[in-house]
Amino acid sequence: MDGEGVERVRVSGLTEEQELFRASVRRFAEERVAPRAAEIDRTGEFPWDIVHLLAEQGLLGLGLPEACGGGGADLLTTALAIEEVSRVCATSGVLVAVQHLGSLPIMIAGTPEQQERFLSPVARGEWLAAFALTEPEAGSDAAAGTTRADPVEGGWLLRGTKVFITNGGVARVLVVFAKTPTPDGGRAMSAFIVDGEAPGLKVGRIEEKLGIRGSQTAQLLFEDVFVPRDQLLGQPGEGFKIAMRTLDRSRLGIAAQALGIAQGAFDAALAHVRQRRQFGRAIADFQGIQWMLADMATQIEAGRQLLYRACQVVEAAGFGPTASPEVTRFSAMAKLFCSDTAMRVTTDAVQLFGGYGYIRDYPVERMMRDAKITQIYEGTNQVQRMVIFRNLPGQREG
Ligand SMILES: Cc1cc2nc3c(=O)[nH]c(=O)nc-3n(C[C@H](O)[C@H](O)[C@H](O)COP(=O)(O)OP(=O)(O)OC[C@H]3O[C@@H](n4cnc5c(N)ncnc54)[C@H](O)[C@@H]3O)c2cc1C
Repeated sequence: MDGEGVERVRVSGLTEEQELFRASVRRFAEERVAPRAAEIDRTGEFPWDIVHLLAEQGLLGLGLPEACGGGGADLLTTALAIEEVSRVCATSGVLVAVQHLGSLPIMIAGTPEQQERFLSPVARGEWLAAFALTEPEAGSDAAAGTTRADPVEGGWLLRGTKVFITNGGVARVLVVFAKTPTPDGGRAMSAFIVDGEAPGLKVGRIEEKLGIRGSQTAQLLFEDVFVPRDQLLGQPGEGFKIAMRTLDRSRLGIAAQALGIAQGAFDAALAHVRQRRQFGRAIADFQGIQWMLADMATQIEAGRQLLYRACQVVEAAGFGPTASPEVTRFSAMAKLFCSDTAMRVTTDAVQLFGGYGYIRDYPVERMMRDAKITQIYEGTNQVQRMVIFRNLPGQREG
């Protein structure tokens, strides 16, 4: 209780341990990652040095099971790490997020043997992971994919093309979604663990991008890639469900990335307006500037509270095969709100820097470019709105 008899609440809603963890990741990110951010953006080269640093810190295996050598962290703790790393470098934040994204299907549907074999090197950061769902003709309509897997002696043969796969050409463990035959003569989506070095797997185009320029976005060509039987995840036909349960959790990572980008831009803008002088005073003295910052801070805080609550809601639901509407809705809401916030806040941050905001010497133009992808990947924000509507209370019945 404080002097006025009001019980103090921790504004962040975090435990003391989580706050300490956040502070330690922030320190690490500012000291070790931030100095590389502008150069990674400029060159667009995949930052292996940051991969090694993140692995050393245990951040690449943070949310993976302890039994596999991971950190066993809950979703909120994982989100805190992604948020803090993204605050200084969104490309580096994506490394943490996608390691989790690529591992989640194996955590959700993998046997103990599959988890031990594939997640242990991923948890140590020796192998990178990727999640390969999107195809040239199947983006928002992910179920329309045509990559196929046909049964052969001892396993399956995969054939097809995936596009826009983060870490596609650098990951050793890829979870690939492909259609397998059903008894009625149709096809249903199944999930496979594919070795990044499997014969017949070719890396095609590496995309040049607006933002997260150091993150690798690759086209993958599957030319009769043999996948052993014991690398099917779950049962044939369960792939779509596995993908959707994965996205329920991994979208929180994108929300955290977006929130971190927004916070980084806000911090830079606040520092700038306090020292930049025009009309004989700091521009922070002008009410028009103060109101912009007040709105930015409010949106960030609202996003943060929604994300942290969403992490708790999704965590509490566990790894069950079917998600409750609340889980899917909260995770989509957090991703939608935080990414729209990131776009608004970074755009305003550029405005607050004036002409300096538009040039490369200052970080906010990079942050504005980085923010855009958070409204697009792991389901565009139009798709998030569809998902939210479909999962409103009472909507699934009848
Ligand atoms: C940098 C980057 C990294 C990525 N990483 C991965 C990855 O690791 N793994 C992976 O599998 N995929 C990845 N993706 C793919 C990403 O998830 C898709 O790009 C995204 O889901 C959108 O699909 P699309 O690009 O085909 O757009 P489209 O589906 O063609 O959408 C075009 C527009 O139409 C809108 N739209 C579509 N359907 C509807 C509808 N029913 N109602 C209203 N609007 C609609 C969309 O919102 C969008 O604005 C990545 C993409 C990028 C750019």
